[in-house]
This record gives sequence, C-alpha cells and structure tokens, in this order.
Amino acid sequence: MKKLAIVVGHTRRRAGAYAGAPIDQSEYDWNTDLAQRMKAHAAQTHAEALAVEIFTRDKGGVAGAYRRVRDWGADAAMELHFNAAGPRATGTETLYLKAVSAGFAEAIQDATLDVLGLRDRGFKTPQEASGGRGTANLSQMGAKPSILTEPFFGSNASDRATAQARKQALAEAQIDTACQYLNALYEDDDEADDQATVSASTLNVRGGPSVEYDKLSWGPLPDGTVLRVLERGAVWWKVCQPDTPSRVGYVHSGFVV
Ligand SMILES: [Zn+2]
Repeated sequence: MKKLAIVVGHTRRRAGAYAGAPIDQSEYDWNTDLAQRMKAHAAQTHAEALAVEIFTRDKGGVAGAYRRVRDWGADAAMELHFNAAGPRATGTETLYLKAVSAGFAEAIQDATLDVLGLRDRGFKTPQEASGGRGTANLSQMGAKPSILTEPFFGSNASDRATAQARKQALAEAQIDTACQYLNALYEDDDEADDQATVSASTLNVRGGPSVEYDKLSWGPLPDGTVLRVLERGAVWWKVCQPDTPSRVGYVHSGFVV
C-alpha cells in the first residue's frame, strides 16, 4: 500500500487563476473537485494498492499543508493547479524540482497528455517553467517524489473546454498512473536491494545485452552511479535507475561492482 498526498493549489480565500466558461471556477474550486474524484477512484479501483488523502493550504499555507502531508507518511505528493497566461497559451506541463521526482513527473505528464491531447510543454523544473515559481512547494518532501501539475491553461477557451469535458478521465488516469508508478518505484524496498555501482569513467547503457544494441539516451553514466540490477546475465546485466524505474537498459558487467 502506497500513500499519495494530493495538495489542492492555492486557498479558499486566494483561489488562484480563474477559468471562464465552461469551467467558471478558480483553480482552488476546480481542483478540489478533481482531488475528490481522484480519491474516489483510488478507493474504488486501487483500494489495496494506493491510499489517497487530500490536503489544503488553508491552514498554515504551503508549509502547513506539507507538514501534514509528511506527518501522514505520504510516499509522494502531487499539487494540483492549472496554468494561466494569454488566451493563446496552451498545453500541459508538470513541474518537479529534485531528480528523485523526475520519473513521477514524466509519468503524470504522459498520462495527462494521453487524456487531454493538448500540446506537450514538458516536465520541467520551476526555473525552466517560469523563473522559479513553485520551488517552495516542491522542496518540502525530502527524498520523496513531489510534483505540481498544470494540465491546461484556464485562460484558453479551447484548453478549458477540453479539460472540463475530460475531467473524470483525467482524475482516473492520474490515479492509475500514480498507483502503478509508486508501487513499481518502491517495489523492492523490502527485499535486499540488488544494486551495482558504475566503476568506469563512463558506462554506456544499451537497449539489449550486446554492443549490437543502440545506446540509450539516459547514458552514458558517470563513475559511481548506483543502479538497480534486475537480471544478472553472464556478461550483460539488465538494470534500471532506482529513482526512475521506467528507465531500463543493459550494461556490461565488467564495468560495475
Ligand atoms: Zn496555481
């Protein structure tokens, strides 16, 4: 059982950006409803695998919300927003701050793109997205994944019509993805983790167990990189990145210890 904390962005009194018709709501109100749909879907579909709790910033602001998230023992946090700019700005982006959160951000970004079909603005740090806005929110969870979602632009009529029409699908897809991701991420916690450390100045990662296979884009890896070993072949080992288990590849066992 993994625990996902959903933090509703903004507060009842300062409710964030406002989206016109057909939403006619601020970020706080729209995302309060989204969070409730997410929690309900988790209870219906993933009751054994994912617990979801909703937190607000109404008492104690960002710091207060995340203190309660940590006290609850969350394995990850997801803060809900939507974007706002000019009427033509469009698309989906997901923010993260620390490397440990990048895989979760990527997974949620991909799931959101699949549901809404809006422009892919990427998963990125607050600095890359908007000069640092969101940094304080994303630095509260220590080594646990923490992301901030901006699925659409409330200032764009087409974006918000899409988001409103697909709201339930969005809630379900984000929960399904979070459940799958968090359970995979922490899968081996209880077993003796089978790890290997790169012992070459750089080490290529390949798509299969020989030099015939292409090098993967998340390599080459620097000396000292820690990998999780999935399979130990005679020469080539199948590995993944501990923080990003979707990144799976093969390394030559002569260059890891
Ligand atoms: Zn916001």
